Amino acid sequence: MGETRGCAVYSIFLLWMTLQLCCATSSPSQSQTNQGTDVAAPREEQTEVHCSRERSRAAWKIIEEYLMPFMEKQKYQLSSQCRLHPSNDIFRDQEKHKSHIDINEWRCGYCKKIFRAEKYLDQHFDNRHYNLLNVSHGKCLADLCGALHCDFVMNSQSLKTKCNPAAAARNRHLCENLADSCFPINEGPSATRLHEFFLRQFCDAHTCSRARKPFSRGGRKRTSVFYLAISVLVLMFLPLFYLIVYLYQREMKTQTTQLKRISKHGRKPKPS
Ligand SMILES: [Zn+2]
Repeated sequence: MGETRGCAVYSIFLLWMTLQLCCATSSPSQSQTNQGTDVAAPREEQTEVHCSRERSRAAWKIIEEYLMPFMEKQKYQLSSQCRLHPSNDIFRDQEKHKSHIDINEWRCGYCKKIFRAEKYLDQHFDNRHYNLLNVSHGKCLADLCGALHCDFVMNSQSLKTKCNPAAAARNRHLCENLADSCFPINEGPSATRLHEFFLRQFCDAHTCSRARKPFSRGGRKRTSVFYLAISVLVLMFLPLFYLIVYLYQREMKTQTTQLKRISKHGRKPKPS
């Protein structure tokens, strides 16, 4: 009796082991998407890049939103000498090769691999397409974050920390240098206008004396999806609202006439 029970336990254990082995061997072929398990390419011959991809991306977003619309209005082209020029962002080419297909689907434009999140695609770029970074250029957009208020955009908590006058002065200096190099006053009226604009939009807020907020001139105006959704909802619910009001009023009318009838009948003397 005890022997057969032991045998059964042993066979169940064997079955469980084989199942475990099967799962372990079949799982890599099952998953189509990558979750950052991309094996790092050997980096012996590569030089290290000390530039934050995330902060460079934030700086680019700020340029795109708070500067480009105003440059487009003036039909102004940045020179490659200007550090805000796209060619001075080492990650620009890789960022252009990202496609956000679905909420949890990011595709690498170089090798068409699919990833579940942007951070995994970033890791993939670092590991697999490292050689495509224009490192020799040595231009890091994240270095301009101080002037462009990246922290203001990335996390608002840091604003609660005490203002450092030396840091503010340093950022203001960097900001004014950008204005001078990107929009030289001697280059015509549009450059002069943009120079002035840049100082107001980005540089004025680098101060501890007053609570000034950056991007005082606003950003790109877009027909927000939110407003579109709100207007569609209003248009949908307005007829419904009127219908409900109409039905309610009709109901009230019929009730009052019924009440009148009942009260008339009520006055009639009961037959004894
Ligand atoms: Zn790739």
